[in-house]
Amino acid sequence: MGSDATLSMHAAAAPARTGNAAVAFAHAAIASMLRFGIRPTPAHFTIWYDYHSGEQPMVRRVLSTFLDSGQPVDERLMFEIHDRFYRPGREMQLFLDASQHIQSALHVAVSQVAEAGSNATRYGSTLRRFSGALGAEGPELPGLLARLQEETEALSRRCDQLGGDISSSAERIGALERELAEARREATTDVLTGLPNRRAFEDQLRRAAQEATMRGHSLCLLIADIDRFKHINDTWGHPVGDAVLRRVAQTIGACLGEGILAARMGGEEFAALLPHATLAAAQQAAERIRQAVSEKSFSVRSTGKDLGIVTISIGVAAYQRGEPLPCLVERADVALYQAKQARRNRVASLPEPV
Ligand code: GH3
Ligand code: MG
Ligand code: MG
Repeated sequence: MGSDATLSMHAAAAPARTGNAAVAFAHAAIASMLRFGIRPTPAHFTIWYDYHSGEQPMVRRVLSTFLDSGQPVDERLMFEIHDRFYRPGREMQLFLDASQHIQSALHVAVSQVAEAGSNATRYGSTLRRFSGALGAEGPELPGLLARLQEETEALSRRCDQLGGDISSSAERIGALERELAEARREATTDVLTGLPNRRAFEDQLRRAAQEATMRGHSLCLLIADIDRFKHINDTWGHPVGDAVLRRVAQTIGACLGEGILAARMGGEEFAALLPHATLAAAQQAAERIRQAVSEKSFSVRSTGKDLGIVTISIGVAAYQRGEPLPCLVERADVALYQAKQARRNRVASLPEPV
């Protein structure tokens, strides 16, 4: 598929942000999706809108390269573009929105507390004036009592009002806390498989390495990669590829015990952290995972067609206390590469450095 006149024409349009220009970009985005047989999902629409408007120069450059070179422009490409250029920003936005809301709710709550304080101060000074005047016992006493009663009633009304305001602020802050927790969960979870994502994994790896260094116990890292996954996508289509990813993720998760973290690192790559495991124990765990995946049978639900077996290769490395984490990851990667070189569907590990 070469570059096409409609695409080039719209892509070259001035990126003016007038309403008319936006409508034209939206039309062009829909036309492009129809042209390439891409489903008009919000994510796909965003990519094409940005392509036509030039709003995201990198997206435009990548898509133009594909269009100009005649490489397939399909949903797989959409997935990769979305994964690369949009996802992290979206997660960050969720955080920013939630913290912004919490900040303003706290601001309201703080001013309510401040107002309660100033009411109390005011009432306190009225009381002081009153007690000073009491000593005088003069004819003004009934007037003072009436003032005191008025002030007391006014304060009690203001307190009722503030009590209501503060409890609705507390409810709002509670709701925002839940929103923030949800945003945090979303930002650390891989949408497709439900496993923790790379960000969560890197956090966990840092913590596990610190703990292993401080307490002097072992820690191993597994990196697993589905074999010839591109072929699965090319033969059966992207949605079937996604289903395979989910099944492999479930299988890996089911092979690991409590306290062990598995994550999707991106694409068809997974990782697992095994605190307290020696290299030999981690190799055995990896072997169990490899075997469990290769024993599953995969078929396309709609047609019943058999996909044949799906296999994974796994690289294993043991953490050397105090070493920089990229060195550990690098060793597991090299081991994974060796497993691939050894015709895949196997576990490999590097000898521990001395
Ligand atoms: P190897 O055995 O050497 O690992 O080969 P491979 O085909 O598995 O590796 P390659 O890196 O060539 O291809 C991986 C493919 O995975 C390419 C990419 O389009 C696809 N992919 C990445 N993420 C996803 C996803 O979320 N869903 C689907 N269906 N495909 C994905
Ligand atoms: Mg692979
Ligand atoms: Mg890979």
